[in-house]
Amino acid sequence: MKLIFASANKNKIKEIKALLPSHFELLGLEDVGITEDIPEPGETIKENSFLKAQYVLNFLKQKNESIAVFADDSGLEVLALNNVPGVYSARYAGIPKSDANNNTKLLEELKLITDRKARFLTVITLILDGEIHYFEGEIKGTISYEKRGTNGFGYDPLFIPQGYRSTFAELSSETKNTISHRALAVKKLIDFLLMK
Ligand code: IMP
Repeated sequence: MKLIFASANKNKIKEIKALLPSHFELLGLEDVGITEDIPEPGETIKENSFLKAQYVLNFLKQKNESIAVFADDSGLEVLALNNVPGVYSARYAGIPKSDANNNTKLLEELKLITDRKARFLTVITLILDGEIHYFEGEIKGTISYEKRGTNGFGYDPLFIPQGYRSTFAELSSETKNTISHRALAVKKLIDFLLMK
């Protein structure tokens, strides 16, 4: 089965490919000819996830291709910051987006704060045969006091998942892929598709 994933993020595509059974063919945005950044004007992670999937579906409809499309939107919510950066996670430190600047800004905002509790949330929207389905994944953890590790992307150098001492960026991609917010949401998506 062909699945279009509304993302150009190579790390995410790799993570999801590793989770999908081999009879699913995963195509990213580049594979379907979308090179522009998809706008994310929503006020929630769920809304942006839906808008991304809808954008790609509209693009494909213009080409008369009918296919399953899914999109994910994720965010990091820090409890002591009233769940900021949340839906603004990607552009927390401004435009152009920069993971390094986002991490530096988060450390700065938390400089005097000892409550480091946070969670990553992913919402996947699947549009299949004109129906919309949502799948959520969450992982709780804490924000470290400095950047640690070089694996992964985004806030991985700062996020320590509950039950671990290492940040996501210090863990292997296999371990992250077993426990992460996105892995949990993708597993729900796969279970759903396998039942179809
Ligand atoms: P989006 O889902 O691509 O819009 O992600 C929003 C922001 O959260 C981006 O800055 C990502 O770098 C960050 N993010 C999403 N997923 C992860 C993850 O698994 N690890 C670290 N950062 C992430």
